[in-house]
Amino acid sequence: MKSKNLKFDEINEGFTIKEAIEEAKRCLNCKNPACIKGCPIENNIPLFINQLSMGNMGAAIHIINEKSNLPAICGRVCPHEKQCVGHCVLNAKGMPINIGKLERFAADFDEDMGLIKERLPQKGRGKVAVIGSGPAGLTVAGDLAREGFNVVIYESQPEPGGVLMYGIPEYRLPKEVVKKEIKKIEALGVTFFTHTVIGKNITVDDIFEQGYDAVFIGSGTALPKALEIPGYMAKGIIQSSYFLRMVNLFNAGNIGREEVPVKTGETIGVIGCGNVGIDAARTALRMGASKVKIIYHRTEKEMSALKSEYEEAVKEGVEFLWNTNPKEFVTDDKNILRGIKAKTAKGEKKFTLDRILLAVGSRPANRIVSTTSGIEVDNAGYVITKEKPYGMTTRKGVFAGGDVVHTPQTVVLAMKEAKQVAKGIAQYIDAKKLLEE
Ligand code: SF4
Repeated sequence: MKSKNLKFDEINEGFTIKEAIEEAKRCLNCKNPACIKGCPIENNIPLFINQLSMGNMGAAIHIINEKSNLPAICGRVCPHEKQCVGHCVLNAKGMPINIGKLERFAADFDEDMGLIKERLPQKGRGKVAVIGSGPAGLTVAGDLAREGFNVVIYESQPEPGGVLMYGIPEYRLPKEVVKKEIKKIEALGVTFFTHTVIGKNITVDDIFEQGYDAVFIGSGTALPKALEIPGYMAKGIIQSSYFLRMVNLFNAGNIGREEVPVKTGETIGVIGCGNVGIDAARTALRMGASKVKIIYHRTEKEMSALKSEYEEAVKEGVEFLWNTNPKEFVTDDKNILRGIKAKTAKGEKKFTLDRILLAVGSRPANRIVSTTSGIEVDNAGYVITKEKPYGMTTRKGVFAGGDVVHTPQTVVLAMKEAKQVAKGIAQYIDAKKLLEE
């Protein structure tokens, strides 16, 4: 899949049919499959791999679809080494099954060949509005549409997909893949309204007035955290999430190169060593930075980034400064960033940098909550939800899930929770309709 900027072409090649079947044949079809225990959404891994090993692609994707609305995405960005693959018994021989790549193969094959045409129930069970079209929103929408609900999704950005579209870089997750997965959700009867900011263009109360039975908030964590040390207002300190978004927009041809903050030849410091930090660092190199240093106050063992992502970053030339705790942003007399002072094991050190990309976490924005009465949040701004019906906020009929409820998680964990919330919404609407009758 070629992108406009060739440096952003997808790094990992998929399997050919022959390779996929050969890999699938290695699976032992274990009686007590450890791989399923490692999968947050409990995909029936041995069953779909067994179908693949016999060349039954349609049956394989059918099994995967029972648990996942986004297999082409999960196959690419799930932390398999910590989940299914990490649990595979064949790790004992140092050769676990490459489950993610098999899932990706089945999903891509289905999309290319148009294998599956789902039979959908009539839509009459109720009306649900979903706010946000990231992994949580898409999962809730897909699950409820399959269960016979009318579902609309409101998205503030020009295109649906949330973090999948604007956060994860093209070389890890091609945007064409995201668009195809969204088309599949559309084919389930879900309607998308983009460019719609809830709390500005329309409120949650307006949605209920239009006759919706329930609202799901899956708006994620839109506000990045700052690092408030001396000099933090300097020009040249930007959020990694903003940088990644601008690069994705540039690659899609929506903005010019001059609007992307990193310039050719710059020395970049990335503060933070989670997956967003690594994505920002590797993307900065692709945008022509001459040097990229990840600055992290803890050790290699303590980083939250995936090991495989870290190793790729090292191969590409990203430098890692461990046990380096930024204490001050160094600026010139025009308040332009020139570097940082940081505490290291060898005392205070100064690093000369042209630009800093911050990746120290994010939290929910409060636009929806502040324009809707009755939704309580905790001290950090996360929405409080109940166990029964699962995912309902303190306002009747309003549900929430994904990162807006918890601290930011992986795509698949947001999906796992969203599936439970979809069940909670269905139970709530069924009970509501019964009472109305
Ligand atoms: Fe196959 Fe590994 Fe799962 Fe066993 S644990 S069923 S070998 S993928």
